[in-house]
Amino acid sequence: MPTLRDFLEKINIRADIAWEEPLAGHTSFRLGGPAELLVRPADEESAIALVRAAREESIPLFVLGGGANLLVGDRGIRGIVLDTGALRGLRLEEPSGTEGGASLLSAGAGLPVDELCLEALCLGLGGLQDFSGLPGSVGGAAYMNARCYEREISQVLERLRYLAPSGELVERRVLPGEWDYKRSPFQPGGPAAGALVLEATFRLEGAESAEIAATMRARRADREAKGHYRLPSAGSVFKNDRRLGAPTGKLLDGLGFRGRAVGGAAVSAWHANIFVNAGGATAAQMRKLIELAQREARERLGAELEPEVLFVGEF
Ligand SMILES: Cc1cc2nc3c(=O)[nH]c(=O)nc-3n(C[C@H](O)[C@H](O)[C@H](O)COP(=O)(O)OP(=O)(O)OC[C@H]3O[C@@H](n4cnc5c(N)ncnc54)[C@H](O)[C@@H]3O)c2cc1C
Repeated sequence: MPTLRDFLEKINIRADIAWEEPLAGHTSFRLGGPAELLVRPADEESAIALVRAAREESIPLFVLGGGANLLVGDRGIRGIVLDTGALRGLRLEEPSGTEGGASLLSAGAGLPVDELCLEALCLGLGGLQDFSGLPGSVGGAAYMNARCYEREISQVLERLRYLAPSGELVERRVLPGEWDYKRSPFQPGGPAAGALVLEATFRLEGAESAEIAATMRARRADREAKGHYRLPSAGSVFKNDRRLGAPTGKLLDGLGFRGRAVGGAAVSAWHANIFVNAGGATAAQMRKLIELAQREARERLGAELEPEVLFVGEF
């Protein structure tokens, strides 16, 4: 395996790069050690060339979207971290072909979901308003099959374009059977695991701009009222599991978890499934608090809590 410096010189792509870049500045938890090499490709071609070359040389590569669902370890991530932030292309296709003459709006993987929602509003297209205020990127929302107000992003997705682990470019329709609650084909074990999502195409309907805007405002106001943006967090730490009979927040409430803390990592005072960096936390403390909640839920309720937040890098 060549050194990362030799590798970079050889591949010659258009990108911003940073060595030993602290990832705390790139995650909504504001936690995490450095990326050995952070690369932000300026365009799709550069992203594709980077991923293909890294695979050829067996260099580990992690894809970073908005960093809104990640707990990055204090010792950071070795190898390359590909930041999709500059892949923001947006194009509207003529309404045709799809059922009922829906419009197709395609967005680059790095576009923030919130910006996508605003663009749809400006175009008078409805379907995305429930996702207004969701932190993170289009690619991350597809990977996570983000869910807001009972709607999953896969329900408005028409197709995805991605770079498969084989190095092949694939464009594929969204098949309902491959998506589930917080599950997408891009996650480990899925048919497209290890792929780099490049572009997502959404199926939207013409709607009254005033109505779209009203829903978007209401969603954002609801999140604000629920304290979503009050302190650095990654939203819900655990998935909900219907079999447990109550949302995870309620279960943790019952265990007296609100306000519990390990160092600067705390369960928020306003929602027991939102853990926050209350100031000066480390990723290790956050992980410890998460594991503490899991242990108590297991021992006292017989419940297995599955983290929604993804643990990455070295702790
Ligand atoms: C305040 C707050 C509120 C939240 N509310 C919600 C909510 O209501 N509903 C909800 O579902 N989530 C919620 N979240 C979690 C988060 O917003 C979502 O999980 C979001 O979709 C993550 O997107 P991201 O771009 O930040 O992904 P990241 O956190 O950067 O990455 C998540 C995963 O996606 C992968 N990934 C990212 N981009 C790509 C790509 N282009 N190709 C391949 N893989 C990729 C990463 O490798 C990683 O495995 C909330 C988070 C916060 C901070």
